[in-house]
Amino acid sequence: GLRDTAPATIFDRIISGEIPAEIVRQDEHILAFRDINPMAPAHILVIPKDRNGLTALRRATAEHTDILGRLLVAAGEIASDKTLGFGDGARIVINDGPDGGQEVNHLHVHVLGGRKLGNTFC
Ligand code: 5GP
Repeated sequence: GLRDTAPATIFDRIISGEIPAEIVRQDEHILAFRDINPMAPAHILVIPKDRNGLTALRRATAEHTDILGRLLVAAGEIASDKTLGFGDGARIVINDGPDGGQEVNHLHVHVLGGRKLGNTFC
């Protein structure tokens, strides 16, 4: 967005096609691609194409309601797509800020699956 003055990230270069990614789904609003360092047999990131200030979920306001819904709907569709390597369920994660383990300052939803995951979150 025009008022998003935070530095661009590697994800902008994936969105622009400047660096390659294994894209699994996209539309006008969202892009989903395989994580380069997968933490599970299936590990996909879902991001907004326009960050619009969403460096992190903690920046979310009411103006982001539509894109946040779109990201979660896409995450659910991806998690139920067995052709992408998912089985009967997945884990949907948003790392937020340094204490949350976030490294890329462009909101992204992790979709992890392809095996039975444990119930330890940290
Ligand atoms: P975070 O730790 O910020 O929640 O997650 C960032 C994720 O982006 C990490 O899981 C990391 O492996 C992934 N990642 C970082 N750089 C790239 C890249 O250039 N391509 C892809 N496909 N994933 C990346």
